[in-house]
Amino acid sequence: MDHRTQAVKIGQSWIGDGRFAVIAGPCAIESLEHFLEVSRFVKSRGAAFLRGGLFKLRTSPESFQGLGEVAYAIARKVCTETRLPLMAEITDPRQVDRLMDVVDCFQVGSRNMHNYELLKELGKIKKPILLKRGFAALVKEWILAAEYILKGGNEQVVLCERGIRTFETSTRNTLDLNSVAYIKSVSQLPVIVDPSHGTGLSSLVKPLSLAAAAVGADGIMIEVHPRPTEALSDGAQALTYEQFEELVDQLNPLLKALGREFTAV
Ligand code: PEP
Ligand code: MN
Repeated sequence: MDHRTQAVKIGQSWIGDGRFAVIAGPCAIESLEHFLEVSRFVKSRGAAFLRGGLFKLRTSPESFQGLGEVAYAIARKVCTETRLPLMAEITDPRQVDRLMDVVDCFQVGSRNMHNYELLKELGKIKKPILLKRGFAALVKEWILAAEYILKGGNEQVVLCERGIRTFETSTRNTLDLNSVAYIKSVSQLPVIVDPSHGTGLSSLVKPLSLAAAAVGADGIMIEVHPRPTEALSDGAQALTYEQFEELVDQLNPLLKALGREFTAV
């Protein structure tokens, strides 16, 4: 049975209304100049939403952990200037109050999908939530995690497939596009795809983005960096400006053939 997708409004734009949403930006906000430059660029090429991490949950405590609270003012400035909504990760329920005025959509990262206390807190607020799939979570567990937020009264939930850990090691994760088609058949929640974390390799981001559009995803979330080799996190999967431009150019005719269009800014 086909379920009608329940669109979610983020800023002034919708995800899940039939159009294809492009969310783009750096893995992490590195400085005002960096985030402003990337954001202006991705907007000029059709991104309707920004991404950019303030708090990063890294595997090693020695790795860059994000600018944290220092990035609040940067994020606000960039959103005001570009007039684009920001989706960024919340890593701790104690961040809720202050992040309310900084981000337009709270992202729950893969590592926190099972953090039910965080999900319950997010169920109490009136702000859209992007719930990423845990990298070892069944689709069923992921949907149940979404239900923690819905049960609290917050119905503005968007799911994000970001790859799962399998026996395959040639790519960072195995992007499970089955889940997108499956969720479309059982749930009303919009679902987007993150081929950056799903593959971990910039050369694979374009083909898997095209595949995401073909399978019926409501959008994609893409990491972009002006100089990927200098990125403070996830450089190997970041698209250069040229690669991002090429991706949008190739998505265009595919979406047309599918009878869809990009989410307008
Ligand atoms: C991210 O998108 O910034 C991120 C950390 O992704 P994930 O939680 O999917 O690893
Ligand atoms: Mn990243």
